[in-house]
Amino acid sequence: MPQVTFSRNVFIPLTNICRNKCSYCGFRRDIGHPEAKLLSPGEVSEIISRGVNAGCSEALFTFGERPQEVPGFKLWLEKLGYDTIVDYLVELCKLSIDMGLLPHSNPGILERREFEKLRPYNASMGLMLETAGSIRAHNGCAGKAPAERIKTIELAGESGIPFTTGILVGIGETQDDRVRSLQVIRDLHEKSGHIQEVIIQNFLPKPGTEMASWQPPGIREMAETVSMARRILPSDVAIQVSPNLIDPKELIECGACDLGGISPETIDYINPECSWPNIPELKAVADLRERLPIYPQYIKRKWYSEEIAPLIHRLSDAEGFRKTY
Ligand code: SF4
Repeated sequence: MPQVTFSRNVFIPLTNICRNKCSYCGFRRDIGHPEAKLLSPGEVSEIISRGVNAGCSEALFTFGERPQEVPGFKLWLEKLGYDTIVDYLVELCKLSIDMGLLPHSNPGILERREFEKLRPYNASMGLMLETAGSIRAHNGCAGKAPAERIKTIELAGESGIPFTTGILVGIGETQDDRVRSLQVIRDLHEKSGHIQEVIIQNFLPKPGTEMASWQPPGIREMAETVSMARRILPSDVAIQVSPNLIDPKELIECGACDLGGISPETIDYINPECSWPNIPELKAVADLRERLPIYPQYIKRKWYSEEIAPLIHRLSDAEGFRKTY
């Protein structure tokens, strides 16, 4: 049975305000919508506390992208005492470390100085490339310009941050776009050595969105994409699939070796209709091993800051996986 890794996390949807309007997104809300949100420190602390009690190691912070560019959002931040979402996130990452969970933040497009602020307080970070092609679903989305996303992933490498990226399959990209996306990720990793995992994520249509009636990719198409990713990407880059979005069995046979974050406490806020599989059931298809949000090879190479080192040491075993008691 192949060894497959996962991390035990809590999902913290810090805000669903976003400057982009992707045609497939069911997460984003407009300011003024009753479900529009910026979580308070108290709400974040309550989620982290549930994660600690459930034995998690990771606090996964997710966002809409650059929400401060949306009129009205800055007022929300100012009420909490912050000028930017990154400054607020830094404080929440510190809180998470103090409480015992390793932060993994996915704030979208970032500049170098923003990575410098976040690096000491994150075990790893992420940004989906999604696609290196120009597609209709991203029309009018400044942050979905492939060059912007590639630049952010490149800056993460230059900042020495263990990084997660990936492609979203079935959003209108061509087969050539998929190949090129994986080649771009390979080249970024060959330059900086920072890509720890690549998610091959299947698009699932969301009700009420422009792409609600689109046909999602089937298992055959996903299996072929995972096989192709395994051929293109260097062997030290893990291939992740999402076991709440697709049955992972066949994809593991094609080379997927990681199942990402599985949460005992929180739902997948991006795909709220897809519940997590239970871990004992997954053990029937793979030899599961729990990891931290930072992969073992980056722990061995000490790709982390002094600020986060004590918690990484406390949570990891001699091989750099999650310590079991
Ligand atoms: S960037 Fe993310 S949160 Fe924003 S609209 Fe696109 S998919 Fe939704």
